[in-house]
Amino acid sequence: MQTNFSLAQLADPHVAESEKILRSCVHCGFCTATCPTYVTLGNELDSPRGRIYLIKDMLENDRPADETVVTHIDRCLSCLSCMTTCPSGVHYMHLVDHARAHIEKTYRRPLMDRLVRRLLAATLPYPDRMRASLKLAGFGRAFAGLFRAVPGLKPLAAMLELAPKSVPAASDVSRPAVHEASAGKRGRVAILTGCAQSVLDPGINEATVRLLTRLGVEVVVPAGEGCCGALTHHMGREEQALDFARANVDAWMREVDKGGLDAIVITASGCGTTIKDYGFMLRLDPAYAEKAARVSGLAKDVTEYVAGLDLPEPAVRPGLSVAYHSACSMQHGQKITSLPKMLLQGAGFMLREPREGHLCCGSAGTYNILQPEISAKLRDRKVANIEATGADLVATGNIGCMTQIASGSSLPIVHTVALLDWAYGGPKPAGVPEARVMEAAE
Ligand code: SF4
Ligand code: SF4
Repeated sequence: MQTNFSLAQLADPHVAESEKILRSCVHCGFCTATCPTYVTLGNELDSPRGRIYLIKDMLENDRPADETVVTHIDRCLSCLSCMTTCPSGVHYMHLVDHARAHIEKTYRRPLMDRLVRRLLAATLPYPDRMRASLKLAGFGRAFAGLFRAVPGLKPLAAMLELAPKSVPAASDVSRPAVHEASAGKRGRVAILTGCAQSVLDPGINEATVRLLTRLGVEVVVPAGEGCCGALTHHMGREEQALDFARANVDAWMREVDKGGLDAIVITASGCGTTIKDYGFMLRLDPAYAEKAARVSGLAKDVTEYVAGLDLPEPAVRPGLSVAYHSACSMQHGQKITSLPKMLLQGAGFMLREPREGHLCCGSAGTYNILQPEISAKLRDRKVANIEATGADLVATGNIGCMTQIASGSSLPIVHTVALLDWAYGGPKPAGVPEARVMEAAE
């Protein structure tokens, strides 16, 4: 695509990067067919190509964001399905991240929108605050219907409806510690305990620590790590996101210097996509660029790391059928497609692949709160495809998808690592049926 930026504009490294991306788009439109918002809304401006044009026009003309741009960029899920489809290698993720930061700097949102976004940015990344808000949400749930009837309050209704009925107690695994390998030590990793995940389902980190230590890996929960920054990054709150990234880089580099790390293991693929991008996000910060690139190089989804270990025979053959839901951040963001399925099959699960697996479930960070209507349509479509497989349960590798799918289906939905932990000697995850469990032959 031809672009028309002045030399002065290109002196800004963010604009220079976006110009490079824009030039690589040949506007063929292949990406429209796999874009969930285009498939749902049928409007070219809600397709990747349409958004690319809007961003180009805004940046080339040095214009502040306007309502049209904001409407269509806000509707983008950042699912990155378009990047998987694009034959020209257009890095849509970096382009839309730049557009979101530009919107945040140049556009004044309506009051309620500003308040909701501030509330999300001030609570979700902080486990203690999030736990307290979820408890409060329990009292507010009765008002969800009322809030849904008022346009500006729909996100509040979505927040209340998504909040779990009971909040699990905080887990000891989230505290800084070194968990020693229980068998002969063959590796040392740090895990990201995360923010929302550690509150909504602390069992995921517990399963990860159990599985890895049983497999001979020392697991460190470093002091000072926190939210990966993805939630605020996707809201265009660049400085807050970069501060989270720097704090994590410091925490993990201290562990690298102390005892060395083979990997930084991540159990939420949304966080994994962002941490693998720290090298890019902090490339202009001379104090952090090199360290951040090193951290990105060490980051691995838990399935990537476990697949590299020599696994024993499973202790239990579950004999259950599992519909595997590949989170967008897993399949499009990190291009991890076959490993989780291979591990589940190797652990004795029968795999079912839902139709339209490339389409987002509508979770997408805070999307299910900020865009509840589109999100609900995508969730219902996803749930129908999952339930059509007739599987006993659903497995996925991202807490956002787990919450989203659970809000529309009564099938048990479990993190992949919890199923692997069970098959290799850990406890059965809550809610998983027992009927067809067979102990492995001695
Ligand atoms: S598929 Fe790629 S090159 Fe074609 S319009 Fe979409 S982003 Fe541009
Ligand atoms: S990231 Fe997803 S929603 Fe956004 S333009 Fe690409 S395919 Fe569409």
